[in-house]
Amino acid sequence: MTREIRRLGVLTSGGDAPGMNAAIRAVVRACVHHGIKPYGIREGYKGLIDGQIEPMNARSVANIINQGGTLLKSARSQAFRTPEGRQTAFENFRSADLDALVVIGGDGSFTGATLFEKEFGIPVVGIPGTIDNDIFGTDYTIGYDTALNTVIEAVDKIRDTATSHNRLFFVEVMGRDAGFIALNSGIGCGAEEILIPEADRGIDHLIKSLERSDRTGKTSSIVLVAEGGKDGGAFEIAKTLEAKLPDYEARVTVLGHIQRGGRPSCFDRVLASRLGVAAVKTLMAGNSCVMVGVRNNAVALTPFAEAISKHNAIDDELLEVADIVSI
Ligand code: ATP
Repeated sequence: MTREIRRLGVLTSGGDAPGMNAAIRAVVRACVHHGIKPYGIREGYKGLIDGQIEPMNARSVANIINQGGTLLKSARSQAFRTPEGRQTAFENFRSADLDALVVIGGDGSFTGATLFEKEFGIPVVGIPGTIDNDIFGTDYTIGYDTALNTVIEAVDKIRDTATSHNRLFFVEVMGRDAGFIALNSGIGCGAEEILIPEADRGIDHLIKSLERSDRTGKTSSIVLVAEGGKDGGAFEIAKTLEAKLPDYEARVTVLGHIQRGGRPSCFDRVLASRLGVAAVKTLMAGNSCVMVGVRNNAVALTPFAEAISKHNAIDDELLEVADIVSI
């Protein structure tokens, strides 16, 4: 089955992520390539409700592949969570005479898109854009690789001062429910310990590890902490540890929003370009309510229902590697 699309809307929703611009560019240019008129919807679902819908063309996405953030801006919209809000969004969608929608965002954005499709029959395809890499059905989300590189660059700098002063540093990274950033960047920057929600072994394990390091002559250590662990964030953990091991002088750095910004890595630009092109093709092929992702380096479709409800498991092999290489 194929679907005729004359006019297509694209929006970015939820937290911004580096590479979203590259995805917008790819969607717009794929539309032009296929003879579809592209429209940009500003500020996510909020803009759909406010009627911020503008025509785009191949030139309106020039010089953005290298920029972080999102040209279309992103927002969180409470109103879109209500049937009235979605009704207004639909009326604006129809007034702009759009036939289909591409949503670049996370699982919340896909939940909203699912309702929009169910209530009004609007064909919609999602592109996973979030630094957390926590969406089922794709090996990588747009922005994750850039965020990892940002973290290791920052931690490399912290290591310089940690080594100079024989200090213990706790570095908190994003990942409220998912430890992918902490685990992978932790291995990449040679962290002593990595504390993630999915495999939280508690403070006692951390203490054992630090004591072992002491015995083997390590003079400084860096511990990566995902923000959503059961023992709290980096500040809480540092405090608990200092209470138990008074000889340790712990320092804390919370990387915060710098993880969201910056120029997208080549990996994210290529991923975003592939998924943008795939999203338009997927709509043209008659699909809806699916996310385009990559699995084993091939484009793969996942129904929104699965992308939203299932979760990627942490790779045990990576946990083992982290343990072995940190001795
Ligand atoms: P991130 O992973 O960066 O948080 P996200 O897409 O999960 O991205 P959310 O804030 O959860 O971010 O969702 C983005 C927007 O999607 C919300 O502001 C809201 O407008 C819409 N949305 C989320 N959940 C629902 C829902 N249950 N019903 C309708 N709309 C929703």
